[in-house]
Amino acid sequence: MRIGVDLGGTTVKAALCMEDGSIVQKKSVPTRKGDPDGLCADMKRLALELCSGNGIRPETVSGIGIGVPGSLDKQNCRLIFGTNLGMNNVCFGEVFRPEFVCGVRLENDANCAAIGEAAAGAARQARSMVMLTLGTGVGGGIVIDGKLYAGCNDIAGELGHMVIRQGGEPCNCGRRGCLEAYASASALVRFAERALSAGRESLLSAQRGRLNAKMICDAVDAGDVLAQELFAEYCENLSCGLANVINIFQPECIVLGGGLAGYGKKLLEPLRRLTDAQTFRSDRKNTEIRLAALGNDAGLIGAAVL
Ligand SMILES: [Zn+2]
Repeated sequence: MRIGVDLGGTTVKAALCMEDGSIVQKKSVPTRKGDPDGLCADMKRLALELCSGNGIRPETVSGIGIGVPGSLDKQNCRLIFGTNLGMNNVCFGEVFRPEFVCGVRLENDANCAAIGEAAAGAARQARSMVMLTLGTGVGGGIVIDGKLYAGCNDIAGELGHMVIRQGGEPCNCGRRGCLEAYASASALVRFAERALSAGRESLLSAQRGRLNAKMICDAVDAGDVLAQELFAEYCENLSCGLANVINIFQPECIVLGGGLAGYGKKLLEPLRRLTDAQTFRSDRKNTEIRLAALGNDAGLIGAAVL
């Protein structure tokens, strides 16, 4: 048995998995942002509950993987910068001791999702794939010839921080105009709140101040003009990033995950059309844009099989 933990900006999820990554049971709690001790205690409690609930002795667990948003020192199992978690310089190596005796591996959450989808999801047959997760931030993971591309510092694949507009919206990373500042779920919400503050009329007005991406997608479906405008702009911005990825890597497929991928075909169709118009095409084989098959479990499964 293995344990995968997906440390998100909103929730901490943990799963007890078989050796191949299939999930036996999962549990989650809200993320205690800015409280590293509380967060570590929550992770351990979830892992212990998963074991006791399934008659597994913690010392028999063969591996624990944690997917974390931020920059990492994998060798020392340390989170260096975790902007979306509100904490820096946290070591996770000893969190599960003494009950658990196996090693703990740390990987960027988006890389975990890419590993999960490449191992058991939408990109299972693909030799090369790029995963983008559209959530609180925009995460990226690059798998080439079946292996995660990590670069010389183990931190490659930060596709969310490619600039799509020089001098554009400020980003959490300190630069301006990053894909993340336009194509994350938080960005879509930020643009909506801004339009409402500027006095735009919309079905969304009633939810002002507590909007989320799902509400905006629902308003698109309900025919709301502002929501449709915002969503169209969102797709245009995201397609710019996708086209950049395709033109650089020409992967067999790009897999989209995270909360906004839950919008399904309504997201894929405009994206495919907009992206096609910006990419170098071949008459042999072109990159397919697909939705994640493992849903929000990709990161958990990828972390478990690290
Ligand atoms: Zn950035």
